[in-house]
Amino acid sequence: MLPVVALVGRPNVGKSTLFNVLTRSRDALVADMPGVTRDRHYGVCRSGERSFVVVDTGGLSGVDEGIDALTAQQVRLAISEAQVLVFVVDARDGLLPQDIGILNELRRSGKPIIAAVNKTDGLDEQNALAEFASFGLAATLPLSAAHNRGTDDLIALTLPLL
Ligand code: GDP
Ligand code: MG
Repeated sequence: MLPVVALVGRPNVGKSTLFNVLTRSRDALVADMPGVTRDRHYGVCRSGERSFVVVDTGGLSGVDEGIDALTAQQVRLAISEAQVLVFVVDARDGLLPQDIGILNELRRSGKPIIAAVNKTDGLDEQNALAEFASFGLAATLPLSAAHNRGTDDLIALTLPLL
């Protein structure tokens, strides 16, 4: 069985865009409309000799009812089957209360968490990262999934944790 990496975060932070880059597919549904990916979505990321499964998830909106409750349940399943959690946040939105809620949920799993600060294209990377330093995570890296920047660093950070 290949190890599993789950992409988790609020809707619209760029999880599906990142999934497509990591798996080199256009399968995941990418849209400007938040919350489009309701189900978990699987692909394989290959890096040299190594491979791992990437799970794209619908966003945890913090609204724990109706369809969002189903999405949240899917996210929790993805967390439970993963060895590493990639917590995707949006550098343009900055740190939102929902992010803290999601991080608390991720922390409860006890699994290694990498914070991927996405949409840093056109921003000062150090400024963008500084806002998320309060997470206190060892691994926090800048990313631009849409421009395929930082994804090699993300893979390099992930592989030793698998
Ligand atoms: P998801 O809901 O977390 O899966 O987010 P999506 O991957 O569907 O992306 C949401 C929106 O953010 C889309 O309009 C993407 O084109 C945009 N987006 C994703 N990654 C980046 C990025 O690195 N930079 C910028 N500027 N926009 C991005
Ligand atoms: Mg998505």
